[in-house]
Amino acid sequence: MTGLHRLERSSTEPAVGRDVEAWCAKCGRAMEHTIVAMVGIEVIQVRCRTCGGTHKYKTVREVARAEAEPRTASEGRAEKARASSGEKAARAPAKPKAEPTEVRAARVVYQRLMAQRDRDTAVAYAVTLEPTAGQVIDHKQFGYGVVDEVLLNKARILFADGYRTLVVGRPQ
Ligand SMILES: [Zn+2]
Repeated sequence: MTGLHRLERSSTEPAVGRDVEAWCAKCGRAMEHTIVAMVGIEVIQVRCRTCGGTHKYKTVREVARAEAEPRTASEGRAEKARASSGEKAARAPAKPKAEPTEVRAARVVYQRLMAQRDRDTAVAYAVTLEPTAGQVIDHKQFGYGVVDEVLLNKARILFADGYRTLVVGRPQ
């Protein structure tokens, strides 16, 4: 993508040795981590830059979800299966039953990401959009969001009220 604001290292595509924001159980919060191991485009293991601990890569969202739902293991697996099957399930992760931990954690990350970015560079959301990770999106309904992850024809975008997976990359 051209015309993009120069982004922080942490928001470029993940690669071993690069930084990524991940959940650190030791620190008890989302911290900057260095990617230690990857399989394909998936981050597997990270090292916390604050406490130095090396552990499995977990996003804030995954952790918050696990906390909200005690059935951690099966829930996590189901979530992954759903995500990879391409079903348009993960539309709005925030169910009406509010999940304060997730919302709070997401907001912290959101504010930090937005603080590093210029809202003037935001591009209007459209299904034909081809976003890149770290890009600022302006969505009519959800407001400003930061692209967290670009999947095949969807993008996970962090908005002020949490992550949403939206359709992108549809042919014009
Ligand atoms: Zn840590």
